[in-house]
Amino acid sequence: MQYTEIMVRYGELSTKGKNRRSFIMQLAQNVRGALIDFPALKIHADRDRMHLILNGEDSTQVIPKLSKVFGIQTFSPSIQVDKNPAALKATTEEIMEAIYSGKETFKITAKRSDHSFEMDSHEIQQFLGNAVVDRFPDIKVQMKRPDINLRVEIRRDSAYLSFETIKGASGLPVGTSGKGMLMLSGGIDSPVAGYLAMKRGVEIEAVHFASPPYTSEQSLQKAKDLTEKLTPYVGSIQFIEVPFTEIQEEIKQHTPQGYWMTLTRRMMLRITDAIREMRHGLVIINGESLGQVASQTLHSMVAINEVTTTPIIRPVVTMDKTEIIELAEKIDTFELAIQPFEDCCTIFAPPQPKTRPKMDKVLELEKRLDIEGMMERCLAGLKVEAISAAQSQAQVEEFADLL
Ligand code: ATP
Ligand code: MG
Repeated sequence: MQYTEIMVRYGELSTKGKNRRSFIMQLAQNVRGALIDFPALKIHADRDRMHLILNGEDSTQVIPKLSKVFGIQTFSPSIQVDKNPAALKATTEEIMEAIYSGKETFKITAKRSDHSFEMDSHEIQQFLGNAVVDRFPDIKVQMKRPDINLRVEIRRDSAYLSFETIKGASGLPVGTSGKGMLMLSGGIDSPVAGYLAMKRGVEIEAVHFASPPYTSEQSLQKAKDLTEKLTPYVGSIQFIEVPFTEIQEEIKQHTPQGYWMTLTRRMMLRITDAIREMRHGLVIINGESLGQVASQTLHSMVAINEVTTTPIIRPVVTMDKTEIIELAEKIDTFELAIQPFEDCCTIFAPPQPKTRPKMDKVLELEKRLDIEGMMERCLAGLKVEAISAAQSQAQVEEFADLL
């Protein structure tokens, strides 16, 4: 059966009153971004629904991509039918032939926005219901939770039939909540944190600290690959590579090892905050999870957080590792994240990091460092690159050629 359009029901958008218009516009833009590989597809958004007109594009390829776009509650692929009873009856029979196996219960749900149509909703239900029962005499009609709910919509331009309701990704359209800087390491937690922030509408830019030659080209590539795994939800993500070598060497040379971790994290946060300001972000997002490692005790968080008043969103802070891993598997970042490449923190990991760093000690030690100069040189060396879903698609195809 050839679907002609997909009808999209908005998620929490419906409750957003006066912001509704901008929410819908953002969602339409994100849907376009996610479906960039389907140029013939047209998007019509109205107050209550969004209609994706397929124009011959393959629904089986569109659907998996659409189901990743945040802000969609459910969607239904549907078939356009001429607005007359005979055509409706013929297509209804054709659909039932295709999907009815002899066991399911069914009902017809009709909705009419074109009131000039010759039958009202109740009459349409009767008419098509009878047609189905005539064709399949043993079929059972069931009003509550039927196995098959065949929906008929009579709109001004045409009639539409659908029988599938597919769950969307829910959440809010990415971009409707403003922009945040995601501190992205090569680990399991930060990509999950980025995914969860996007789910609530935050547009993210990935900030990654690299310390060549201590960290390798592969470790940088891994962070980019993880970023790419987050692009299906938005289309494209800016990746910002931060040169961190000098700062780590200076800290190591001038301060006692117990404080390396705290001082390093404070520098990371200062720099991320400066990047956020340059790029008009509102918040910082990281993958900290309470108690996981020395830097993630509440005492450490306080000492690290002291460098900024910018809100830091920690989407996985109260999750157990197993819960985070479950999500990482769902978004397909887990396998990549566990590849054993060194990152800048493991290489300079002190033997005994302080889990309760003292604030006065931290401030005293920082006097030994040229913080402003180091930051200036670091920020002068940023590398920004757009990582897009289209790129990942190209790679998949390249790989397929090798098979
Ligand atoms: P992850 O699994 O995300 O690496 P983790 O459990 O290894 O987290 P840490 O290495 O202590 O935890 O890092 C805590 C958070 O600090 C990370 O989730 C990330 O947000 C940020 N971070 C750590 N290293 C880097 C890095 N090299 N570049 C950018 N952000 C980093
Ligand atoms: Mg890490």
